Amino acid sequence: MHVEVIDVRFNMLTLGNASVERLWTGGKWLEGPLYMRDHGILIWSDIPNDRILSMDEDGQVGTYRKPASFANGNTRDQAGRIISCEHGNRRLTRRELDGTITVLSDSFEGKPLNSPNDVVVHSNGSIWFSDPSYGILSDYEGGRRDQKQPGCFVYRVDTKTGETAAVVTDLGMPNGLAFSPDETLLYVSDSEASHDPEGARSIWQFDVVGGGRLANKTLVVEVEPGVPDGLKVDEYGNIWTSAADGVHCYTADGVLLGKILLPEVVSNLTFGGAAGNRLLITASSSVYSLYTNVRGANLR
Ligand code: MG
Repeated sequence: MHVEVIDVRFNMLTLGNASVERLWTGGKWLEGPLYMRDHGILIWSDIPNDRILSMDEDGQVGTYRKPASFANGNTRDQAGRIISCEHGNRRLTRRELDGTITVLSDSFEGKPLNSPNDVVVHSNGSIWFSDPSYGILSDYEGGRRDQKQPGCFVYRVDTKTGETAAVVTDLGMPNGLAFSPDETLLYVSDSEASHDPEGARSIWQFDVVGGGRLANKTLVVEVEPGVPDGLKVDEYGNIWTSAADGVHCYTADGVLLGKILLPEVVSNLTFGGAAGNRLLITASSSVYSLYTNVRGANLR
């Protein structure tokens, strides 16, 4: 559990006197970390245990939602509403401020989604999510069911019309999503190698055209060991991604700056804390944290 500097530039993004902390353990496969700055609360999914947990500023852990439809990725929209990817019901939902659940998307071209995995909200209100098949491959992470879609796509939900449109259709297992600080780029990880050693372990970059379309697919980096799952971008445009040995930090052009080495496989991360400079990491059964010298991009 320590910070490994590979490029001296990583020294400016990290703090020499901050240590990696394990904040909590006891889950089965944690995902979807979301820090709610206005409440000082971190929530995360524990997928096999079908629950979302929360931790307050004092470290008190509670159950936020259970059952949780085997929720995976979580984010918030501009109004502060939580948007969750649900493996169980194969849908994307929004938790309204009164606690009721609104279904944002559960099908494409008349057929059920696979199992929504991760989600980001653009400042224009559109919601972008990945739909690999992890939640229907086993009973452990949702329920083993047939795949109805012809592939694993990335979708955009137009919250004005309610329409779900496929925006990426040529990746194996699209997974983590993050916009660049100015939202002109969307990064998408492909974690296909989790089930196929010959498969992709890639982070792709797309131009966001007109706020709704993607173009110019470009490979940023291939992540090893393991696969890239969830990822986030900092205020300078560096990419912080999950990997088997911890969190890797790459420049926007794919240079590895350093790693936060952890004893468990990392699934996802987010920038939290009051200043947005605290990396909060879901890794297999535990939540880890590290204060950094950089803030997350597009904090909400
Ligand atoms: Mg994921």
